[in-house]
Amino acid sequence: MGRIPRIVILGAGYGGIVTAIRLQKDLNYNEADVTLVNKHDYHYITTHLHMPAAGTDKPENARVEISKLIDEYKIDFVKSTVTELKLNEQKVVLEDSTLSYDYLIIGLGGEPETFGVPGLLQNALNIRSINSVRLIREHIEYQFAKYKREPHRTDYLTFIVGGAGFTGIEFVGELADRVPKLCKEFDVNPELVKIYNIEAAPTALPGFDPQLVEYAIQVLEEKGVTFKLATAIKECTPEGVVLATGEEIRSATVIWTGGIRGNHMLEEAGLETIRGRVVVDDYLRTPEYDNVFVLGDCSMVMSPEGRPYPPTAQIATQQGELCSYNLVASIRNAPLKKFSFHNRGVVASLGRRQAIGLVGNHKLTGRKAAWMKKMIDLRYLYMIGGIPLVVKKGKL
Ligand SMILES: Cc1cc2nc3c(=O)[nH]c(=O)nc-3n(C[C@H](O)[C@H](O)[C@H](O)COP(=O)(O)OP(=O)(O)OC[C@H]3O[C@@H](n4cnc5c(N)ncnc54)[C@H](O)[C@@H]3O)c2cc1C
Repeated sequence: MGRIPRIVILGAGYGGIVTAIRLQKDLNYNEADVTLVNKHDYHYITTHLHMPAAGTDKPENARVEISKLIDEYKIDFVKSTVTELKLNEQKVVLEDSTLSYDYLIIGLGGEPETFGVPGLLQNALNIRSINSVRLIREHIEYQFAKYKREPHRTDYLTFIVGGAGFTGIEFVGELADRVPKLCKEFDVNPELVKIYNIEAAPTALPGFDPQLVEYAIQVLEEKGVTFKLATAIKECTPEGVVLATGEEIRSATVIWTGGIRGNHMLEEAGLETIRGRVVVDDYLRTPEYDNVFVLGDCSMVMSPEGRPYPPTAQIATQQGELCSYNLVASIRNAPLKKFSFHNRGVVASLGRRQAIGLVGNHKLTGRKAAWMKKMIDLRYLYMIGGIPLVVKKGKL
């Protein structure tokens, strides 16, 4: 190349921020120009968003200023929104400028997958970002306030969560914890509040250990959640949902957590995708361009059995680590390493001091699983921000 190679990282989520943090350690002085682009000047801890969404924690606790995570002498941070990927020209268009690159890392996260269900996109809320969870939290409180003015409108007190995957389950656990406090605050009879978790698959947490799933359902039902499993949402309207069974549930709040697809710009850039996600090669690159790496929810990685791994923060951070290694290797003309996912365990919170988890062959429930969830969170905070971030955000 002759000049210093330009590395552009799009998105400071799990995949993007870990790549940036690793690169600033691994690259020598003047070995590459690294630019990190993100919509906001903060990184958000997506795996915590169910709490501020339900109002059991503050949104500020789920965000970290990017300037606290990166060394701005080594990484150039640009706060802007990416609007187009011009991969043939090695350019990315931002809302206010255009960047050229030699290596591009796409970590723009996912978008709600609505499976074509009419009205979901227009009428349902999503747990995806700090801004989206602020809206959900305010919306929920507003429903309680509105009910006091129109006591015949019990649909204000009915909350529907579409999807019983990890996000849906973690959110209903938190919401069920919040409801008694909201009832007290707004003088509402708790018996009038309904929380439905509706899932098209025959079970909650499809693919997860059945014994742990049964435990989770029992805990959540005891907290007041009503499950409707093997029940597809046929339509979402401003008045609620229509189910495939023909039943209609009136509700002023539908929160859709039923699926994730990759960022729409990947498809628009002409990359081959499945549900908007790029099936990356062994080194995390697109099949079309060997200088374009795709991470996290935008990517699809196949397991040795040939099934895609679910998109998680865990896989995104491991991809970020390997991506940094492979970028440095590419610049130094050294051999690249293949990605292989190490499953360190999965834990789902069920609200305060309750969780389920599978770590290796160990099944965890209750406080032990909740403790494990905390350890996973602290490990991540340590990884991106060291002890100061653990102390600041770790709720020790
Ligand atoms: C409530 C909830 C709980 C979860 N719990 C877990 C869990 O316990 N364990 C687990 O492993 N996974 C969990 N996940 C999944 C996990 O959070 C995601 O898989 C992970 O965040 C994906 O990381 P990413 O790097 O692909 O993107 P993200 O972390 O989503 O980050 C994408 C970044 O790109 C930025 N961005 C997006 N579009 C643009 C644009 N056009 N221009 C500029 N910037 C842009 C965003 O602002 C964001 O900073 C959970 C998800 C949710 C919603």
